[in-house]
Amino acid sequence: MKYNFHKNSFEDHELFPDKIAIAGSDNDISWRELEQQCTQLSNIFNTLQIPKGHPIIIYGHKEAFFPVAMLACMHADIPYIPIDKIYPIERVKKIAENTKAQILINCSKDTLAIEFAVTINASLEVMQNYAPDYQNKVYGNSSDPLRYIMFTSGSTGEPKGVLISKSSLLTFVTWAQKDFNFSEQDVFMNQAPFTFDVSLCDILNAFMRGSTLVLTSNEILKNQDDFIQRIKKYQCSVWTSTPSFAYLFLRHANFNATHLPQLKTFLFMGEPLPNRTCVSLKQAFNQVVLLNAYGPTEATIVTTLIEITDEIIQKYPLLPIGKPMPASQLLVHKINEQEKEGEIIIVGNHVSDGYFKDEALTSKKFYIHNNTKAFRTGDLGYYQDDLLFCLGRNDDQVKMNGFRIELDEISQVILKNKKLADAICVGLSRNNEVKKIIAFIIIKQACNTQELIHEIKQHLQNNLPYYMIPGDILIVDSFPVNVSHKVDKNKLIEQYLKVQLG
Ligand code: AMP
Repeated sequence: MKYNFHKNSFEDHELFPDKIAIAGSDNDISWRELEQQCTQLSNIFNTLQIPKGHPIIIYGHKEAFFPVAMLACMHADIPYIPIDKIYPIERVKKIAENTKAQILINCSKDTLAIEFAVTINASLEVMQNYAPDYQNKVYGNSSDPLRYIMFTSGSTGEPKGVLISKSSLLTFVTWAQKDFNFSEQDVFMNQAPFTFDVSLCDILNAFMRGSTLVLTSNEILKNQDDFIQRIKKYQCSVWTSTPSFAYLFLRHANFNATHLPQLKTFLFMGEPLPNRTCVSLKQAFNQVVLLNAYGPTEATIVTTLIEITDEIIQKYPLLPIGKPMPASQLLVHKINEQEKEGEIIIVGNHVSDGYFKDEALTSKKFYIHNNTKAFRTGDLGYYQDDLLFCLGRNDDQVKMNGFRIELDEISQVILKNKKLADAICVGLSRNNEVKKIIAFIIIKQACNTQELIHEIKQHLQNNLPYYMIPGDILIVDSFPVNVSHKVDKNKLIEQYLKVQLG
């Protein structure tokens, strides 16, 4: 059995309905059960008379029911907002308030301290608190309904919602079906939180082919042996992750082809793929296929793909991100024609319609190029040998351990403290990778600094996911500026390192 995203229907019912569709962190679900639960959820949506554009929040962490709920929403043409338990409750509250979502699908066993009109749990029980008020405003349009809103870090201090429509998703699905060399026999190891579209890549690839999806929770990941054991148990053949995540396993004695002979492909996305990681992986898994895919959430999961062969590893110290999918065009917008590099612009129907309720930022980042949607990525890149290379960001967005972080969002959250005159966050890098975030703060007037730092940390923990919390907070008298009168972040880091060295 498999799912046809173009037709919104299950197909090939006679083919292995009892095969595992989803191995969740809690239980396994067969393809037959996936269809049954999907249909039951769709019927519940009908009974609740949810208008087509009204988003449903799906909450949880790697339970088998989470992808079931995602698929049911797509099946019923109702947009969903995935929220992983790694988000603190204040962040979930903000998203719920901004979107006015009335329905919660709670895949976890937790009770959320937020009231929704209706909550549906993993046993398909419907609990109604009050009559849903779906509001007049409906997102998306009937010919191209909204599929999901993915909330990522936003520089204004609020998470920003990327809107992805059905046709954008289908552009990705069509490409993945043709050019990602997977089959129904593949077993996909899924580990990235559902709040990141890295995780959606394997869900779509598995569902469109009738394969098996193996979800791995943070609990299992706490112990590398358990994780490797899980890969072995389910015979996972495709590993999808950020390079940072794979890097963590490189020293494990059983992370190699001898112990995991079924692992055939590593699909990397979400951040730069270091050459040295590929060298180590080729040593551990000599026959393995390494794929590098690039693209922001705003262009539906990924836009480019390239196999990183031995030849490529040897030829390019900075690995290429490849070529765009056929339905897309990648432009390099140079300020000056003499320069080699410029901002990467993505053009194609897989580009989002913009940010949820943020017209100013939408018009800054999105535009129409030759009648097609275009997105200014903020990434610097260049073409060489007909391949695209990505040099990094031209703004304050960073990736740390694969997580997308707007440093300004952290500064804005810190600045909620009234005792502060200013705050700025800077990434501390080693080998071009951000290893730690340092917050520099200026206080308005003398106060108990220990108490202040404690207050700030508490506020950060209540409002931001763990991966956005600065590793250190340093009080400074002022921010140094460079020749262009911008805050000199290198000097701040120097100052920090000096303090560290005593
Ligand atoms: P996200 O929206 O979380 O997928 O983050 C997208 C950003 O991550 C891109 O704009 C790039 O800055 C970076 N990125 C994603 N994939 C790659 C890659 N393969 N190589 C280099 N940078 C990448």
